[in-house]
Amino acid sequence: MPLYEYRCQDCQATFDLLRPFSRADEPADCPNCHSNDSKRAMSRCAALSRGADGSTSSVGGGGGCAGFSASSCASCGH
Ligand SMILES: [Zn+2]
Repeated sequence: MPLYEYRCQDCQATFDLLRPFSRADEPADCPNCHSNDSKRAMSRCAALSRGADGSTSSVGGGGGCAGFSASSCASCGH
């Protein structure tokens, strides 16, 4: 399941969430203030993952980190 990054619109907290791609754009519950008004952030993982992969042939796979393991996200520094 892909790992997505969300930013809470209320408290500006960012958090990662594992959820199906089909639900990626749905609001997520903020673990900090429990607001349901968060939006998916454009993850920096996408660009870094492409670089780490050494290939640019699969740009726009639709999930950013989706095609990679969570461990590759960890290298993003967030
Ligand atoms: Zn919040």
